Amino acid sequence: MQFDLAVVGAGIVGLATALAGARRGLRVIVIDRDAQANGASVRNFGFVTVTGQERATMWQRARRTREVWREVAEAAGIPVLQTGLWMSVRRQESVDVLEAFMATEMAAGCRLLSPAEARRRCPQLPAPDRVAVLESTMELRVESREAIPRLAAWLASAHGVTFMRNTVVRNIATPTVYTSRGNVQAARVAVCPGDDFNALYPERLGAYALKRCKLQMLRLADPGFRLPAAIMSDLGLGRYRGYADLEASAALKSRLAVEQAEHLQHGVHLIVVQSADGSLVVGDSHHYAATPDPFSHEQIDALILDEFGAALGIEPPPTIERWIGTYASAPDRSVLIDAPEPSVRVAIVTCGAGASTGFAIGEELITDLVYSGVSA
Ligand SMILES: Cc1cc2nc3c(=O)[nH]c(=O)nc-3n(C[C@H](O)[C@H](O)[C@H](O)COP(=O)(O)OP(=O)(O)OC[C@H]3O[C@@H](n4cnc5c(N)ncnc54)[C@H](O)[C@@H]3O)c2cc1C
Repeated sequence: MQFDLAVVGAGIVGLATALAGARRGLRVIVIDRDAQANGASVRNFGFVTVTGQERATMWQRARRTREVWREVAEAAGIPVLQTGLWMSVRRQESVDVLEAFMATEMAAGCRLLSPAEARRRCPQLPAPDRVAVLESTMELRVESREAIPRLAAWLASAHGVTFMRNTVVRNIATPTVYTSRGNVQAARVAVCPGDDFNALYPERLGAYALKRCKLQMLRLADPGFRLPAAIMSDLGLGRYRGYADLEASAALKSRLAVEQAEHLQHGVHLIVVQSADGSLVVGDSHHYAATPDPFSHEQIDALILDEFGAALGIEPPPTIERWIGTYASAPDRSVLIDAPEPSVRVAIVTCGAGASTGFAIGEELITDLVYSGVSA
């Protein structure tokens, strides 16, 4: 069978690209080596974050991606389990960053809450050291391990996208895609391989000095109440570039380096989101290597839980699940888009924000491929 577009990789970036292609009327096939989604796209928080994304392009991509998530969630029957963000902080230096942030265009949909107002809104989160909360209405959260399979099933049923699973793509010479299960014919190819840099175009990708970033994640039991929003803390202000790139963040970073050196050493910052059954997904840490070790370290979980206790002001509920995930990381860019041939694009999100920016990136890839002059 002939296709207009073959997408390598059925993670969020590949599925987003397949959607953008199908919406343009292309006949699309998605090829993935795994029987079911198994990469970063099902290991993440499912937290579609707009506020705090890197200023300009990434922030715009996140705004567009959130819009598409809304449309897709409704059409594909994917529940949006949570909306909004509380950036709950305990230091005056963090308040300075939040105030500087509020003066930028990135503060759309945000406001500052006093500790008293935050406590009124959610008395179950006493957070005695809290000095302010940045409340954003821009975020939404899905349960990725359910959302990604549903998205794929909907692409097949509603958009006629063909899926070829348990299949490795070994080589591409358009219009032929060479796979472990025979050849596929496609005029254009989008390679969305996540953190697999060695299968396709390894020499080109080698030039980008890519590594893998390993994250530790936890699921905690239902605390017995609903969170008002996803929760982050001071450590997130030092990490998310929308805040961290502001001049006002320098003093906060210096203070964190002294007070939370061990957290910073392991790249620990806090995200807490809540699932339909009330359980909490909590993370994370960041360790970078060509091949990180696959083990979950208790000391790092303890640092994550320590920040949970400090930010929320409650004892962490019992841990009921642990896992690790990896994503691609580059030293000098948030997204890598490469064109090894006129009819082929490679797209890798290299900053751990693929759930928040993937739909916009998929649209960019398709626009680029459709206007590249390749005829179907
Ligand atoms: C623990 C964790 C938490 C995160 N939290 C968030 C979050 O809350 N918000 C957010 O925006 N982002 C988050 N991220 C980042 C986000 O999950 C990733 O940026 C995104 O999932 C990357 O999607 P992808 O489609 O590029 O990669 P993947 O999901 O890894 O998918 C790539 C797919 O390509 C397939 N593949 C690769 N090569 C081949 C080949 N040659 N042939 C066939 N198949 C191939 C693989 O089998 C895989 O299924 C998190 C990541 C992790 C690990």
